Amino acid sequence: MFVVAKFGGSSLASAEQFKKVKGIVSSSDVRNIVVVSAAGKRNKADSKLTDLLFLLHAHLRYSVPYENVWNLIETRFLDIKKELDLKIDIKQELEELKSTLSKDTNEDFLVSRGEYFTARLMSEYLGYQFVDAKDLILFNYDGTLNQEKTKEAVNIAFKKYGKMIVPGFYGAYPDGQIHLLSRGGSDVTGSILAQASGATKYENWTDVSGVLMADPRIIENPKGITQITYSELRELSYMGASVLHQETVFPVQQANIPIYIKNTNKPEDEGTIIQENCDDDSQIITGIAGKKNFTSFTIYRDQMSNEVGVISAALAVFDKYKISIEHIPTGIDNFSVVVESKDVEKILYDVVADLRNNISGSTVTVEDGIALVAVVGRNMASKPGISGKIFGVIGNAGINIKMIAQGSQELNIIVGVLNEDFEKTIKSIYDAFVK
Ligand code: ASP
Repeated sequence: MFVVAKFGGSSLASAEQFKKVKGIVSSSDVRNIVVVSAAGKRNKADSKLTDLLFLLHAHLRYSVPYENVWNLIETRFLDIKKELDLKIDIKQELEELKSTLSKDTNEDFLVSRGEYFTARLMSEYLGYQFVDAKDLILFNYDGTLNQEKTKEAVNIAFKKYGKMIVPGFYGAYPDGQIHLLSRGGSDVTGSILAQASGATKYENWTDVSGVLMADPRIIENPKGITQITYSELRELSYMGASVLHQETVFPVQQANIPIYIKNTNKPEDEGTIIQENCDDDSQIITGIAGKKNFTSFTIYRDQMSNEVGVISAALAVFDKYKISIEHIPTGIDNFSVVVESKDVEKILYDVVADLRNNISGSTVTVEDGIALVAVVGRNMASKPGISGKIFGVIGNAGINIKMIAQGSQELNIIVGVLNEDFEKTIKSIYDAFVK
């Protein structure tokens, strides 16, 4: 039995946080693989190393003097080394990196140095072998993970070292060039390593005590979720809940490895367990999430209901512009296509013109400023009255529902409301089901 433990940027922001990580790792014998993000913010006004590195790259590319940004980056590493009294000659390594910087420095490589050096420091502090992610997380040239090669490399290293630390957020292409994941990607690194090594658990240590039932910027002190299924989490994070990187669940779900979300600053808090099946049925709904700024294209045509191929003609237009579709609510002689506004902002008129051309005799209307709110819960399935209650409380709050969708697994109910009703919608559902 062994665990992959991933620590996020806030858990590594300072020497103080490094000490907490060491306390957690050394409190048991099973945290054999440790994954780290780059040092994050020490306080609200501070900057994340990753952001500074992106900024450094922009300075280099546009040939703007970069001394100030460089100094901020260097000082973060040197301060941690000094306060923890580490031996690693990080100054020398940073000097070497600095001497290679130019307009042509590869962005992925440069930005990955945040997790690289954070892991090097932590490696000495924990006494864990540093293994570079470029030798473990192996991508194909198209950016997909080479699962077989990754598994092989991870197991060879793990067998050799027993306890190892790996920087998150990047891997390498077959030619060894660094490939960065998308922002927050260290979560995915941890998940890939848990699957490849066959860990019993994947612990994700962060600065909140688990996944919350709703966004704390909207609901004051929302309740925490103690158990959630992979699919529920996927629904919530797709709809904007921001605890884990959206792609984190896939590798561990394949291998049925539970994810534990824990708080580095309050390790005794229960946190959240994410797994395939959950037995807790004390709450009907598991969580509420949502996103603003959707646009709906509504296509009408007389007697559309008797025709074949109208929807596919409309979808072909969205396909042509590579626009991802969120929902397609249908009526009898009309249907709507709901997409994220940012995806159509610049091509709105082209899309409307193409829709009119592709579907002769149609009328197309556009409405933007729509927010989608998803109520997610495995315990809602086959229970009559839940959607009625949701629509009832929204109606009682004086909010007009513009659209309704329910996935066929009955795992979620989605309502579309105006952007300005977004927060009020979430509050009324939360109050009715949770308070
Ligand atoms: N350091 C990277 C970021 O800020 C990756 C991560 O933290 O997971 O996005």
